[in-house]
Amino acid sequence: MSLLERLQCYGEVLVHEPMSRHTTYRIGGKVDYYIYPHTEIALVQILKMLKAENVPYYVLGRGSNLLFHDDDFHGAIINLDKTLNNYYFEPDGTLVAQAGCSIINLAIEALKRSFTGLEFASGIPGSLGGGLFMNAGAYQSDLAGIVESVCVIQDENLIWLPKSSLDYRYRHSLFQNHRDLTIVAARLKLEKADQEQIRQLMRSRHERRVSSQPLDKPCAGSVFRNPDERPAWKIIDDLGLRGLQIGGARISEKHSNFIVNEGGAKAEDVHALISRIQKSAKEKYAIDLITEVEYLNWDEKKKKV
Ligand SMILES: Cc1cc2nc3c(=O)[nH]c(=O)nc-3n(C[C@H](O)[C@H](O)[C@H](O)COP(=O)(O)OP(=O)(O)OC[C@H]3O[C@@H](n4cnc5c(N)ncnc54)[C@H](O)[C@@H]3O)c2cc1C
Repeated sequence: MSLLERLQCYGEVLVHEPMSRHTTYRIGGKVDYYIYPHTEIALVQILKMLKAENVPYYVLGRGSNLLFHDDDFHGAIINLDKTLNNYYFEPDGTLVAQAGCSIINLAIEALKRSFTGLEFASGIPGSLGGGLFMNAGAYQSDLAGIVESVCVIQDENLIWLPKSSLDYRYRHSLFQNHRDLTIVAARLKLEKADQEQIRQLMRSRHERRVSSQPLDKPCAGSVFRNPDERPAWKIIDDLGLRGLQIGGARISEKHSNFIVNEGGAKAEDVHALISRIQKSAKEKYAIDLITEVEYLNWDEKKKKV
């Protein structure tokens, strides 16, 4: 039996699938296997198979924080959004959710039940798994603030890791240094609050995003982490780079820490802009700007501009 036939026993498999269909930048080459596992048990089997066959793989969410290279990726991408997306609320505000849940949807479901804690996430277009990996956050809040524990697959076992072991910091988690851990679920703690207040907070956050971010164009949110000195957008503005375009990619006129795909942008175009900003920030202000957007399917050779 071929690897494809065996993978198809455990999930839906798209072959030679363009990653541009699965990233919010609308950028990325083809991947050999794009897999939606049927269940958690099926996911364990798929991971086991890929490891045994030495097939490189990534587990991805909504692709909303990724710069995927234009070259094809000879490996597998596993996506949990379609099948591992159940969630359960307890009356005391405990929320147990699978990694494939949309965090925007979880925020809306929490609002319906008058639970506060997820308002900050109501505009972050990622999955819970991606959010836990990135420690997604906004407005001085982040997922680490409400996580109690995370369920992962490690060496074919499902284990719950307490928050204290997850090394959570600003846009950082243990998972970023442990690709061997696949996040499958999490236990979050929310609190009861006035529903109207939660709604108002979510509405004002939404209005702020719409007015300040280029949400009408393909992008991956903030490109750089904010350094201690001052916000990344301010540094880019001070460098006079707002609006700069290379190929199909442009530093957004609306928010200079966003790079948008104006149509037909290549990963190389986005990377060229990122490098240009980093070089200028270093030369002019001696600041090292670190990307928040993650490079996938790149090596150091491809990164040379
Ligand atoms: C318009 C816009 C606005 C945004 N605003 C914000 C914001 O306010 N705050 C913020 O923090 N981010 C923001 N982002 C970025 C992005 O939405 C977040 O980083 C989000 O958490 C990424 O989730 P994802 O599911 O898309 O992850 P992906 O981009 O698919 O993956 C991100 C990383 O997580 C890993 N990963 C994903 N799922 C799993 C899993 N189950 N197990 C192990 N590893 C996994 C992937 O391998 C990858 O390394 C924004 C993006 C856009 C497009």
